[in-house]
Amino acid sequence: MTFETIVVETIQRTPDIKSIRFEKPQRFHYLAGQYVFITLGDGPDRITKHFTLSSSPTEGFLEITKRLTGHPFSNALAGLNLGDRVSIKGPYGAFTFQGEYDKVGMLSGGIGIAPLRSMIKYSVDQELNASIILFYSNSRESDIAFRDELEGMQRENPNIKVIETITRPGLDWKGVIGRINAEMVKKFMPDYIERTFYTSGPQKMVDAMVSLLREMGIPKEQIKQERFPGYD
Ligand SMILES: Cc1cc2nc3c(=O)[nH]c(=O)nc-3n(C[C@H](O)[C@H](O)[C@H](O)COP(=O)(O)OP(=O)(O)OC[C@H]3O[C@@H](n4cnc5c(N)ncnc54)[C@H](O)[C@@H]3O)c2cc1C
Repeated sequence: MTFETIVVETIQRTPDIKSIRFEKPQRFHYLAGQYVFITLGDGPDRITKHFTLSSSPTEGFLEITKRLTGHPFSNALAGLNLGDRVSIKGPYGAFTFQGEYDKVGMLSGGIGIAPLRSMIKYSVDQELNASIILFYSNSRESDIAFRDELEGMQRENPNIKVIETITRPGLDWKGVIGRINAEMVKKFMPDYIERTFYTSGPQKMVDAMVSLLREMGIPKEQIKQERFPGYD
């Protein structure tokens, strides 16, 4: 469906990632992990782009989470104020999770967290039995989006495990270091061969994660992928 809605909240997640929340029409339904088209502007200035809903269907608002690029559409989105109107069309996409797998592995970097945050929040809110292990790679500690929330869901739910890995650690970083690799996956997810994987984010990252999983012997049917163009 296509509808107009208004901005109800904006949240700066990291220095270059921002979430924007919109009023959710009662008749709009979607699955965790799906995306919508957001249109900004009028007449010839209208621009439409894809955005995953980082909110969960269990939440009372719609949220998208944008990596800020400094380009015109990104600036217009980042500049939205409470009450501003946008047009939304959707939902679309088959990169979804409704509890159909008991064991899930998630591999992501940067903005690729958006659909995975939706799925993890959905799983927690619906009290699903699925075991989810998320590997989330970022450059610096300050780049970890949804950090408090992800760590909170991990603390409160034995089914959720979050491994944050940093490639440019500061002196205080006590966690995992380096890009997601086979040794890391095997160490924190010994039953990896039994898991269904979700990987999302910039195209190069997703390509690298799919190659890694295939080299580790994960069949194609156990790998679900969503690529965000425009960031490589
Ligand atoms: C299914 C799907 C889901 C998505 N979900 C998300 C999401 O949840 N969050 C998110 O942030 N993004 C998401 N994206 C990507 C999003 O749709 C945009 O492509 C992305 O945000 C880049 O838009 P932009 O306006 O910031 O950059 P753009 O202006 O579109 O820039 C994209 C590319 O073009 C180049 N470029 C742009 N302008 C110029 C110029 N003047 N000169 C030279 N090069 C230029 C840039 O360097 C960059 O490489 C998703 C995409 C898909 C397909």
